Amino acid sequence: MERIYLDHASSMPIDPRVVKFAEMYLEGTFGNPSSLHSVGLAARRAVEEARKKIAELINAENETFIIFTSSATEANNLAIKGTALRNIDKGKKVAASAIEHISVLNPMKELQKSGFEFSIIPVDSTGMVDMKKLKELVTTDTTVTSIMYANNEIGTIEPIREISAIVHEKGSYLHVDAAAAAGRIPIDVQKDGIDLLTLSSNDLYGPQGAAALYIKPRLRLQPIMPGGGQERGLRSGTENLFAIAGMGEAAKIAGKEMPRESDRLRAIRDKLIDGIKKIDEAYLTGHPTQRLPHHASFRFSRIEGESILLNMDTMYHIQVSTGSACTSRTLEPSHVLLAIGLKHEEAHGSMVMTLGRSNSMEQIPMVIKAVKGTVQRLRELSPL
Ligand code: PMP
Repeated sequence: MERIYLDHASSMPIDPRVVKFAEMYLEGTFGNPSSLHSVGLAARRAVEEARKKIAELINAENETFIIFTSSATEANNLAIKGTALRNIDKGKKVAASAIEHISVLNPMKELQKSGFEFSIIPVDSTGMVDMKKLKELVTTDTTVTSIMYANNEIGTIEPIREISAIVHEKGSYLHVDAAAAAGRIPIDVQKDGIDLLTLSSNDLYGPQGAAALYIKPRLRLQPIMPGGGQERGLRSGTENLFAIAGMGEAAKIAGKEMPRESDRLRAIRDKLIDGIKKIDEAYLTGHPTQRLPHHASFRFSRIEGESILLNMDTMYHIQVSTGSACTSRTLEPSHVLLAIGLKHEEAHGSMVMTLGRSNSMEQIPMVIKAVKGTVQRLRELSPL
């Protein structure tokens, strides 16, 4: 039976073109970008070339405003703690939407423990940030406000330009986690009014082990990993050459192919949503239209997401997710689903499908049949 992989939000295969481009940095060019000899300089050129390609994807002013990190988690930590701690004279307050990734919420909770006030901005039942509450909760002493470009569990795309205007009116810096959105929808940090932006390599079909943080000109951050002073002194530690070079190439390919690929996936996603919504007591989660083109998320009453995932995998060779892979080991329901107003038992019945390059329209009837079969089987077994 053919395997159908529908969990691209958790991990994506590396694009073979990226492997081909970057493999020389695993073998031939092995230098340390900080070394001053020719082997080191070759490595430095690779890092700077990657920086340039990433700057182009998001229309950064230039490549000097891109900092490489090891993961989106690290980029989020640097953006939030680095900005809050370096700009403490502006105030001791931070704010984030209730549906941010845990790697945004946890650094803010840590700041809260050391005396910062932390405001959580609610969202509506589709996952859209409540603008009225944003205006109330972000105040003139809020140093950094974090709102994601799009949510990885429910696919909702936030109105970042509108949010930026409100946040800037209060004099706060806007951090945007674009790990889920980049490569799927266009991002322009200058037009969108973004001060800090997180990108992840693997979410662009690049290697794991690299991510980037855009920091707008003149914004000052405190390093959270002091050491040898790499990456403008903001992120010490020898750069991961293969992953960074690969991320650059992946960003270049994403920029070129995004419009066509997103249109292709949107059509497949719509067919998938239409089919699954017809199942008894199946509901779409997230926004019906303002959602990522590759993202379809649902909840089913009277069954558990974990059982859906396992049944789909073992019986049909289809890999789906129940939410964020990062929190899959806890038994707690997703904070994102609770934030959009679902009850605990409703949040437990979630299934997330994220499409990618290997998916096609021809697979959709099979996927819908598998979901129908799974839901029917689990409901027959369910004591609820
Ligand atoms: N932000 C978002 C929106 C995510 O979906 C993820 C997980 N892919 C992260 C941050 C954290 O990424 P990582 O685990 O690679 O650090």
